[in-house]
Amino acid sequence: IKAVDVIADIFDRIEKTESKIDSFVSLRKEGALEDAKNIDEKVAKGEALGALAGVPVALKDNMVSYNEPSSSCSKILDGYIGVYDATVVKKIKESDAIIIGKTNMDQFAMGSSTVTSCYKKTKNPWDLERVPGGSSGGSASAVAAQQAIITLGSDTGGSIRQPASFCGTVGLKPTYGRVSRYGLMAFASSLDQIGPFTKTVKDAALCMNVISGSDDYDSTVQDVEVPDYTKFLTGDVRGMKIGVPKEYFVEGMKPEVEKAVRDAMVKFQEMGAEIVDISLPHTKYGVSAYYIIAPAEASSNLARFDGVRYGHRSENYKGVEDLYVKSRSEGFGDEVKRRIMMGTYVLSAGFYDAYYKKAQKVRRLMKEDFEKAFEKVDIILTPTAPSAAFRLDDEKTPLEMYLEDVFTIPVNMAGLPGISVPAEIVNDLPVGIQLVGKPFGEGDILKAADAFE
Ligand code: GLN
Repeated sequence: IKAVDVIADIFDRIEKTESKIDSFVSLRKEGALEDAKNIDEKVAKGEALGALAGVPVALKDNMVSYNEPSSSCSKILDGYIGVYDATVVKKIKESDAIIIGKTNMDQFAMGSSTVTSCYKKTKNPWDLERVPGGSSGGSASAVAAQQAIITLGSDTGGSIRQPASFCGTVGLKPTYGRVSRYGLMAFASSLDQIGPFTKTVKDAALCMNVISGSDDYDSTVQDVEVPDYTKFLTGDVRGMKIGVPKEYFVEGMKPEVEKAVRDAMVKFQEMGAEIVDISLPHTKYGVSAYYIIAPAEASSNLARFDGVRYGHRSENYKGVEDLYVKSRSEGFGDEVKRRIMMGTYVLSAGFYDAYYKKAQKVRRLMKEDFEKAFEKVDIILTPTAPSAAFRLDDEKTPLEMYLEDVFTIPVNMAGLPGISVPAEIVNDLPVGIQLVGKPFGEGDILKAADAFE
């Protein structure tokens, strides 16, 4: 098959479905067809091709790419055109994959339903009255609706795994330090990681082969060898020890979610794995500590948006201070403002020890919980999200929305890899399970996810 035909087909699919789903905030049809032509020419000349040659890939709108728009779906960056490629973008291009556009997201990746985007609401392809999850909702819905084969998302507290669960796709958040964040618009720098959404576990492994590894532009990426992740996909999980933490079976848990995890335990046992009871005692503090640490970092990261250097600038202002205040007031959405206020509050003199420092201590304890558990088990099995996709008209309070990530946040706090893999379809909606690995144990969770799938 020709790359141009693949790209023409995918845009055909997008044109047929996009008006209902709204996965994308920008598309680059001509550029993609041009890229495809170049790939076909390479083939004709017998030149070597990259690992993802001709594969249509979409990026979350918070990833900068040269000469293309990127706004984190915030009015404050509306119209911003990238002046360089993020490292993941560079690696995707080098693999000969073809970038088809940018996907919708919660503004600055703050949210769990993609409704805080300044542009539009993305619909869940399984039920157009439901949310795709968030914050990487457009990346999840694009894969689910076959508008792209691979999409990239970012995950600070669950933003890849929860939408993957809601949309019935695979979604992987790598170990902190596995994938470069250079060119990812920062939300909470100590928690953010980029990872793939795919239909199959194998595609996730292929994508990880391409995007992982060290980078001169991000010193938090660790110089750990990148294995061929497809080599882990043997289908054999005999003898694997899978921990199930008792703290993740919470009261009020939705029956569909509990069922998905219990059925998965049985399935893994039938495949020869061993289920081990474990405890992660500090889980209950995860959401609270996260909503101190993540806003604190966000308030600092978002200080750069001042209406001067990029994006939206207020039209009538008196003096420079007024310019900052008006540009930021007009440019940032409500949820972003809420985070900035929380963040500056917890970092302010007099409150720092009571909030920020304490949250850092909790984070350490959560990390130690996992370290202890991993002395006994190879991977950990949990629910991904507390429910299946909820309705778009379901008016959740900020706190209810924050609780969407109870099962995913601890994984970011500990910097571990986590994957959500589709488990069941209950009442016509997909439900995922989460598998968590040791640091740089992406291979283990891919192996188990592949055997499970
Ligand atoms: N829903 C969480 C938040 O709003 C996590 C978002 C994310 O992972 N980017 O902060």
